[in-house]
Amino acid sequence: MTGPDPEVTVVGAGPVGMTLAALLGGRGRRVVVLDKQPRPVAQPRAVHLDHQGARILDAAGVMEALAPDTEVMDAYEWRNPAGQVLLRLQPDGPLGRSGWPESLMFSQPALEALLAERLAALPSVEVRRGRQVSDLAELGGGWVVGCDGANSTVRSLLGIASADAGYSFDWLVVDVVEDQPRHWIPCNVQVCDPARPTTAVSGGPGRRRFEFMRLPGEDPDELASEATAWRLLAAWQLDAGSARLERHALYRFDARVAEEWRKGRFLLAGDAAHQMPPFAGQGLCAGLRDASNLAWKLDMVLAGAPAALLDTYASERRPQTRTEIDFSVELGRVICVSDPDAAAARDRDMVAAAKRSGPIAPPPLPALGPGLLRAGDPAAGTLSVQGQITAGGRHGHLDAVIGRGWVLYGRDGDPGRLLGADAAAWFADLGGRSLDCSDAPAPYPEWFRELGAAVILVRPDFAVYGAARHTMGAGDLVTGLRRQLAAMA
Ligand SMILES: Cc1cc2nc3c(=O)[nH]c(=O)nc-3n(C[C@H](O)[C@H](O)[C@H](O)COP(=O)(O)OP(=O)(O)OC[C@H]3O[C@@H](n4cnc5c(N)ncnc54)[C@H](O)[C@@H]3O)c2cc1C
Repeated sequence: MTGPDPEVTVVGAGPVGMTLAALLGGRGRRVVVLDKQPRPVAQPRAVHLDHQGARILDAAGVMEALAPDTEVMDAYEWRNPAGQVLLRLQPDGPLGRSGWPESLMFSQPALEALLAERLAALPSVEVRRGRQVSDLAELGGGWVVGCDGANSTVRSLLGIASADAGYSFDWLVVDVVEDQPRHWIPCNVQVCDPARPTTAVSGGPGRRRFEFMRLPGEDPDELASEATAWRLLAAWQLDAGSARLERHALYRFDARVAEEWRKGRFLLAGDAAHQMPPFAGQGLCAGLRDASNLAWKLDMVLAGAPAALLDTYASERRPQTRTEIDFSVELGRVICVSDPDAAAARDRDMVAAAKRSGPIAPPPLPALGPGLLRAGDPAAGTLSVQGQITAGGRHGHLDAVIGRGWVLYGRDGDPGRLLGADAAAWFADLGGRSLDCSDAPAPYPEWFRELGAAVILVRPDFAVYGAARHTMGAGDLVTGLRRQLAAMA
């Protein structure tokens, strides 16, 4: 990017900062991304991506390239050392609500490399590496988003506290590449062994991820050594003769949430705003949801919408993130029991419950908190669905066929025809489109039934703005949105 000052400065070229920059750059916004590291750090981190994260990465322009380097997660089990199943999470079907597999396993460095490539191809985005931010005054006058990770400098310089959400344990994290990849059964498992709580999951095609909890009194330096990693891997029949240790690092898994996510022209996203232990595989996914929630709002504000729109970022995302953190902490409490008696009691209860329930589907995220959503509408803030559609001679994911942005979906014909001229012109200015879903295949008919709706208005981040029972309600949805935005001025 050359020429005028950036409209948005993103601090941190981790996956969240790069996704945000890609979403903004895709809308033509001038963005500078600053990162203190001269090159990406290839630490072992996220391996799990949910369906919504995949849809967001698709919007950022990288999912097609990442897809061949992912592995579908069929199930995720918790077992005790005797092999009894304590819990089995299993998706209901091959695809999640967002039209991508419910759960994919992948390697974070591979994703970061694709995002970096994408940013290099966007003419309005510039990444400056080797640039450590230590003073907010150096960041120019535009919007600034701190995506600078768990120890966020931007957060500290703003004086924003990060509240402890009740979990803190050290884990050794190891990525292994086998010479002859085995067929692991189960493929993704938490071994709830009080003698050594252990995670053993896919790390994407050809790669295995192991995580070993530090036991009370155990020396962290000793645990972090390569020799210890091999010693612990021996229990999984892995040694230097059959596998390569790709990366290993000792992490403190924390649960924290920043008390404010916006202060004037500064915002926080990703690990800078929240951290959660990785047991539900949601830390990065939550950061991607932040980027998706923020990108179109920043774009609208830069196009003249009231800056107060950006307050809805925290009011919508913070309560939803709290639920994600609480769920991860709850899972962590099950896994991290190191007292044998407590573990035996846990196993008795959970084995019986798992026998009664059988496999259960991963719990859906709750709706967004209050914000730019139709007040009092139970559909508002829920996640829309995505299916494969055919239109204009093309067939594929709805996002690819009709594009992204504000979409008015109609069950009984094109709802756009029912907007008055003034509302239709305003909606078109917003980049809004309407879609006749009367012949659309699954999951659209089921979605209209689920919401009891004939018309549904969906935002650019795939969240439902509101739903109307009758086709004539299309106008109310659009004028309601227009009034709500005007009231923020
Ligand atoms: C072991 C482990 C397993 C995990 N598994 C999962 C999983 O399966 N699924 C999932 O969704 N999540 C998972 N996570 C969480 C996920 O990895 C993080 O949530 C994610 O990396 C956060 O991305 P980010 O971009 O917010 O921050 P980061 O990736 O931390 O990036 C921050 C960037 O900011 C830069 N920076 C920092 N300070 C400055 C400064 N002052 N100036 C300039 N640049 C700066 C850093 O160099 C870095 O590049 C896991 C995490 C761990 C540790």
